[in-house]
Amino acid sequence: MKLYSTQHQSPDVSLEEAIFRGLPPDNGLYMPLTIEKMDASFFETIQERNFQEIAEAVCQHLLGDDLSQEEIHGIIQQSMTFDAPLFGLEKDVEVLELFHGPSMAFKDFGARFMAAIMSHYLLKSKREIRILVATSGDTGGAVAQGFFNTPGISVTILYPKGKVSDIQEKQLTTLGGNVQALEIDGTFDDCQSLVKQAFLDEELREKFNLASANSINISRLIPQSFYYFAAYAEAKRKGLKLPIVFSVPSGNFGNLSAGLIAYQLGLPVKAFVAACNENKVVPEYLQSGEYHAKPSVETLSNAMDVGNPSNFIRMKLLAGEKWESVRKLVKGYFTNDLETKARMKEVYDRTGYVMCPHTAVAYDGLQQFKKENPGEFTGIILSTAHYAKFLPTVETTLNRQVPIPERLSSLLSKEKVAQSLGTDYASFKQYLLGK
Ligand SMILES: *Cc1c(COP(=O)(O)O)cnc(C)c1O
Repeated sequence: MKLYSTQHQSPDVSLEEAIFRGLPPDNGLYMPLTIEKMDASFFETIQERNFQEIAEAVCQHLLGDDLSQEEIHGIIQQSMTFDAPLFGLEKDVEVLELFHGPSMAFKDFGARFMAAIMSHYLLKSKREIRILVATSGDTGGAVAQGFFNTPGISVTILYPKGKVSDIQEKQLTTLGGNVQALEIDGTFDDCQSLVKQAFLDEELREKFNLASANSINISRLIPQSFYYFAAYAEAKRKGLKLPIVFSVPSGNFGNLSAGLIAYQLGLPVKAFVAACNENKVVPEYLQSGEYHAKPSVETLSNAMDVGNPSNFIRMKLLAGEKWESVRKLVKGYFTNDLETKARMKEVYDRTGYVMCPHTAVAYDGLQQFKKENPGEFTGIILSTAHYAKFLPTVETTLNRQVPIPERLSSLLSKEKVAQSLGTDYASFKQYLLGK
């Protein structure tokens, strides 16, 4: 795979370079130069393949020039160790559960694949890297779990003190080994600013091979396309109505962009619903043709509180670039907190199924789409996190206690290990240098 920068001011690069650079020097985003459709025969028999087999076939098609079949097999076996099942919620509505990985959110797919492919290249060239990442919650857990025990890579995660949930904090601070947690007495922006300064610091760059695990890395996007194919395969096995409409709860629009990659690879999809909370710059763009970034506002579905989605340009390019083409394929809706809670409660009362707030936004987006587009299709809602990661919201909304899965509850009794630091760069640097 060759990749270009969306700013067109930096040279094209190989897959390996794009992965370790993260961002092109001109501050664009890396995009595949070409995405060719997969054979029709792949889609005709896709229902005979399991998740890992589908992932391998997609990888082979996209990355076959960069990696051997055996290498791809190894990377998929190492990283894609959990499924993405469909749950039949109601007539013609399915939930694609993306929370069966170690951190119980869909970011596990991207983080684990990224760790496996980075480690592959590092072992080959006998290099080591140090990853720095700032987190406001979900990313940190997925990255910590994804890179835990990965040869050649150590990880330092910065999180704002008192501003992540108990479970999220335990996910970052109880692994040990090659994962170190830094509890910063400041905000998420302070954490991010410390990481940015470190990347600009010559002395650190000379001493360590610093890398980022940012969500704009192309190696996090590619694996997120796998579950769209897997959902289609499962829909065929279950004999569900085709075509499919995917409703994607969106913040930075990585997940939806990955769906569009699947679409460009030939996956039959009727439409994508861009389901947003009150941070609705993309639904507004789809409505008016004008894109205006805004400061983010806080909502219950906080992993989607993004006012200037970093993957907006990718989404646009992948959906046909021109506004007229994009809005044919991507339909934008937004849902406020009151409606989000009403959906969580209504679905629970009717079906017994508990949704996290992000999933509820996707459910509501699909309902809005259905009203405007009557017809025969199956709506598939992407469920991006297990509800137990948002326990206080879920329990007050449903007005009852809900069970916590063992994977999360066992964390709560583990001991937190984190280094506390202020927001000044000097002490952060000293910490990194081990002084
Ligand atoms: C990150 C996240 C999202 C948003 O995904 P994007 O790829 O940024 O659009 C939605 N839900 C949950 C639970 C998340 O963690």
